[in-house]
Amino acid sequence: MKDEGFLHGARTHAKVRRALFFNGWAVKPLRAAVIGVGYLGKYHAQKYAALQDVELVAVADENLARAAEVAREYGCRAVADFHAILGEADLVSIVVPTERHHVVAQACLEAGAHILVEKPVTRTLEEADDLIRLAAARGRVFQVGHVERFNPAVLALQEVLREPLFIESYRLASFKPRGTDVDVVLDLMIHDIDIILNLVQSEIADVRPIGFPVLTDEVDIGHARLEFANGCVANVTASRVSDKALRKVRVFQHDAYLSIDLHNPKFVCWRRLRDGEGAARLASEEKEFPQTDLLLEEVRAFVSAVRGGTPPVVSGTDGKRALEVALRISAGMGQAWPPPERGA
Ligand code: NAD
Repeated sequence: MKDEGFLHGARTHAKVRRALFFNGWAVKPLRAAVIGVGYLGKYHAQKYAALQDVELVAVADENLARAAEVAREYGCRAVADFHAILGEADLVSIVVPTERHHVVAQACLEAGAHILVEKPVTRTLEEADDLIRLAAARGRVFQVGHVERFNPAVLALQEVLREPLFIESYRLASFKPRGTDVDVVLDLMIHDIDIILNLVQSEIADVRPIGFPVLTDEVDIGHARLEFANGCVANVTASRVSDKALRKVRVFQHDAYLSIDLHNPKFVCWRRLRDGEGAARLASEEKEFPQTDLLLEEVRAFVSAVRGGTPPVVSGTDGKRALEVALRISAGMGQAWPPPERGA
């Protein structure tokens, strides 16, 4: 996902510290830190700074000037080397480039912190497995930043979903150079892969991808047909070279057609009803939602899982499953349509 969903909230935070009470008992604020405060990490810092039961203690970035700038804005300590804050934070957002997720997350877990790792969870499945094992062994919460799970349109869809037979998703974005070190599958499509895997709850039987580069050396437009073991089929399309933004998912099930807009959050349901004589007719229902600060909801859910000792909404295993399917699609695209300059 590009800019949307992260930009809400006050730009400066002079948080008034109050004693916190839950069920009459005073509780200590949880200490949070953010490692990597480039484009997205800054917004993680903003969300922790906005929560009353959390104290943002530090931000770390190799680029110390950037860390200092973000720390000034949200009132915390800035360091260049993240090792300096291990042990100081109960929970950490890891928002460094994906190839560094594993090394940073491993160090945080070993220091006893709960972790929220941005998507894609890691570079490889082996790295994801290693973090899943380590988090379980240490009894720490391991959440992955698939932020669309907190989209009110997705939540509305989940409420009425029964057995999906056919799904189609479109995620189109205009071109931005950021994130183009990976293909559009790992950059954008992985959001819909995660949503769809969570909706279908069945193993993937077959993947048929096609994709090609347009403005970068990686695939910029991609499509995949996912066939699930339970018979459901999902057609997933993503582009980062479109002239306008579009994010939609449509689901067909035996008794209903469900459509959601994730960009301007909206849910539409067409349901088949039968009258007294058994004749079928269609009835529709529509809900529109205000723009929600999805990242704030994600961070809030992470804090709540840590405080309550409950499983996170998007677990390390969910992150690994989405990565597994994304890597399979990416690999298949390379075979299906090698860019001419790399042709065999
Ligand atoms: P970015 O390049 O803007 O920021 C990364 C920051 O990490 C930089 O400031 C860099 O100096 C810092 N950094 C790198 N290695 C470090 C280290 N070892 N210790 C401390 N700091 C270090 O990147 P970004 O666009 O913010 O993306 C960061 C992550 O967030 C990526 O994994 C990306 O895939 C993910 N992301 C997710 C979404 C989403 O929709 N959930 C959107 C954008 C980015």
